[in-house]
Order: sequence, then structure tokens, then C-alpha cells
Amino acid sequence: MSYYATTFCYGPKYTPILPFFLERLKETCKNSEIEIHDKCNVKLKHGFNYAWWDVVRLHNNMELLMKTGKPVVHVDIDLIIEKDIEPLVHLEYDLIISKEIGKDEAFPKECSKILGFGMCSGFYVIKKSALSFLLKIYNLMSNHTYQSYSDQVNMMNYIVQNKFMVRDEELVLDGIRYVNKIIEIDNIKICVLDFNIITRDPIINNGQFGNHINIDNVGGTTNFLEYYSEDIEKLPLTCRCGKTHLGDNKICEHIKLRTHKFA
Ligand SMILES: [Zn+2]
Repeated sequence: MSYYATTFCYGPKYTPILPFFLERLKETCKNSEIEIHDKCNVKLKHGFNYAWWDVVRLHNNMELLMKTGKPVVHVDIDLIIEKDIEPLVHLEYDLIISKEIGKDEAFPKECSKILGFGMCSGFYVIKKSALSFLLKIYNLMSNHTYQSYSDQVNMMNYIVQNKFMVRDEELVLDGIRYVNKIIEIDNIKICVLDFNIITRDPIINNGQFGNHINIDNVGGTTNFLEYYSEDIEKLPLTCRCGKTHLGDNKICEHIKLRTHKFA
């Protein structure tokens, strides 16, 4: 094995996914050793508030990293791995993270406005060289510094409030050209992956390594599991558009992407 792949899986909405998740990882990511976090083993100073699981998983992942020195990958339980992620894990950056949907309006907006994009902690790779940076972020998170436990919120706020540089960098994987964002801060390099490498609310097949699907957007766990067995383009759109019960009133333009592709 050359790295650890971990997830946090807790509660009735997520536990039915675990066997599918494990089977897919074992089949696809041969050089990974899988660890599942399924309980709260951290004292939460601010109780079980939103994103408490981010604190637990980062704690466990840093512990694993310190103990073994091997890269540790976090994959959200609602992220379906489509291709071996090993080439992403060994990219020469200290921290690798996927991109959030929404460009410069991505959550949290006040930070993505400054960066021009957002980071999505549904997929991240941490290396030993990032430990002191991660410890800083962990302390901000567990202290609820930005009124949130969220790793994404705390990391993005920390970055925009400190000295950083950002640039584009090209990467070719499987013959496809991608453009990653490289952030330099505190003497480490963070790679924010091109949106088409790990895709949030995917609409079409683009050779992506992972499809990060919001379970509520597709109407629950049972519907979500269909995306494991059936081609994404044959299933309902995974976007949030027009789902008024989820607070979205936009008219969906995504359907055009599919018809355009086959026209
Ligand atoms: Zn849509």
C-alpha cells in the first residue's frame, strides 16, 4: 500500500452506503489501505453543532498521518470513486483538495470572492509536510473560530486572512488537460484540483476521478445508490436547481449539457 483512504460514516442516512463505498475503493484503488471512522472520539467544546464530523475526521486523519507518515486521503461517503486516485495522491503538493461548486460564489462566499474559487473538503489528501499547517486549521476548527467547525470554512478563512499566493498550473491525466489552482501559504503548497477531476453535482461523464453527489439533491439514500450501478447520464440530474423544498428556485440549465453532448 502507498496511502490510506478514509471516510467518516455515521447515522442512518450514510451507513447503507458503506458496503458500496468499500467495494468500489477496494476494486478501484488497489494501493490504498482503507480506514473507516464511525464514532466521535473527540471532545467537542461547542457540542454537536454543524460539521462536528469535520473535527473528528481531521483529528483521526492527522493521527494516522503522524503514526505512519503515509499520505492520508479523506473521501466523503457520498463521493463515488470512478478511477484509481493514486495519481492524485502522489502529486507533489503538501495538501490536495477538490474544488467546490459555484466558482467565486462557492461556500463560504466571503472567501471565494477573494480567491475566485472555493475548496471542497469532500476530497482531500494530507501529507506529513502539511502537519503544522493542519494543526493550525484544526485548532481554529475546534475553537469554532469562524462560528463553524467546518474544515472548508476555517481553511478558506485562514488563507484569505493571511499572506498567500495563488497561480494556475496545468496537469495532464489520462490525456485530458486540467488546470489546478496552486496556493502557497506558510511554506506549503496546496493544490486545489480542477473541478473536472472531482466533480460536485456531476451532470456528464468527463473522465472524472470522482462524482460527489449530494444525497438530498437526488431524493435520498436509495436513489443515491443507483449512481453506483447505473451510468450517471442515464439517471436524473444531480444538481440542486429547481428543488424548492431544498431552497433553490433556479431554472435548470444543466439538461442542455447532456443533449448538447449527444446532438
Ligand atoms: Zn441544474
